[in-house]
Amino acid sequence: MNFDLSEENVQVKNMARKFAEKEIIPHVKSYEDHGKFPKDILQKMGQAGMFGACFPERYGGSELGFLNFAIIAEEISRAHPAFGYAFNMQAMTCPLTILNWGTEEQIENYVPRLIAADYIGMFALTESGGGSDAAGSMKTTARLKGEGYELNGSKMFITFANEADVGVLFAKTDTAAGVKGITAFIIETDRPGFDAKPIEISSLGHMMRSCEVFLDQYRIPIQNRLGQEGEGFKIAMNALDYGRLSVAARLVGIAQGCIDAAIQYCNERVVGGRRIGEYQMIQHLIADMVVETEAARMLVYKSAYLKDKGEAATRESAHAKYYAAEVATKVSRSAFEIFGGYALTDEYPILKYLSYANMLHVGEGSANVQRILIAQDALGWKNANRHHINRKFSLKSDL
Ligand SMILES: Cc1cc2nc3c(=O)[nH]c(=O)nc-3n(C[C@H](O)[C@H](O)[C@H](O)COP(=O)(O)OP(=O)(O)OC[C@H]3O[C@@H](n4cnc5c(N)ncnc54)[C@H](O)[C@@H]3O)c2cc1C
Repeated sequence: MNFDLSEENVQVKNMARKFAEKEIIPHVKSYEDHGKFPKDILQKMGQAGMFGACFPERYGGSELGFLNFAIIAEEISRAHPAFGYAFNMQAMTCPLTILNWGTEEQIENYVPRLIAADYIGMFALTESGGGSDAAGSMKTTARLKGEGYELNGSKMFITFANEADVGVLFAKTDTAAGVKGITAFIIETDRPGFDAKPIEISSLGHMMRSCEVFLDQYRIPIQNRLGQEGEGFKIAMNALDYGRLSVAARLVGIAQGCIDAAIQYCNERVVGGRRIGEYQMIQHLIADMVVETEAARMLVYKSAYLKDKGEAATRESAHAKYYAAEVATKVSRSAFEIFGGYALTDEYPILKYLSYANMLHVGEGSANVQRILIAQDALGWKNANRHHINRKFSLKSDL
């Protein structure tokens, strides 16, 4: 067993940190102030191979693998948590799902453009009836009519939907068949009947939005179905295995961002004649922040390592997502305490980290949903790693 990052991993980490320092941090305030979607920055991230890390070169990928992907997602989220969204929409849940389940024509049409961020992607599963019961609450329907499907219904909290060109969306083709009645589709947003309205979540800023999506007699050809009719739930759960790795890495980045900011503040802020880092109660907070974040990082690396070996790693992705969410919310709360009243000011990033940690605690399956999955697996009632792996490709980095 070797816990060292390889020379390549270290180079990738340094590359991502330098990219964030040069291409994100100096420019982001202007995008936030104007509520402007930073497509040009995402395209630069695409050109740097960040979204293509887990994709074969023949589809424009950089073949860096899942561990490098997790390292990049952590570094970029540490710099600015909003940019972490793109690792789901431009890499894991949208294009990787098309790569895993699509036809050759679908892959060629969408994947290279999505990982280059020339197309903006989305993943539309959640509905207003409850994201924790995605299948049971699904009311959106897709009916076969002539040469295509007609979709009607709505989706909730769909990130990037107001900017997206394409997305993977789930609808019921058979409302009486439970999870077996769900089918996946590749949605093109420029067709009539598609609308997206941003939801006001001011704590997350106005640059990258999550939206309510409306489908009103929205028609697409049969060729836009992803997989077979009735395979949608399996496809969604498989996509979440990858999405959870990304979210867990993003949460570790948020926790690390809080630690770095808090350490600097502890060494600078003098109260009662002493740097606040000299107070033992502050040191207790710092110690827990450092150790728990490192433990979460190890769970992320394990999940990524197994995915690089070609395993779905459903169990390990749930472990990583659950624990990283607990840690990031606790660590950002501790940073909040360390910064005192200044945590609330725009001068420091603490409130932003805390808001994104809270959001990711829920997103890609809430803490309770992860607990249910983890406990049922541990109790031997359900094998979490039973999920079908539909990987039709291999990367150079595969072990
Ligand atoms: C900013 C943001 C962006 C998002 N982006 C996307 C996206 O791009 N695409 C997408 O498809 N979805 C997206 N989501 C949706 C997200 O995945 C859901 O919010 C999440 O799955 C939880 O669903 P819910 O909010 O409806 O909570 P609910 O399902 O209503 O749950 C409420 C509470 O009840 C608990 N609960 C529910 N069922 C149980 C149970 N059986 N046992 C114990 N406790 C339970 C939950 O853990 C939670 O604490 C996003 C959400 C947010 C906030």
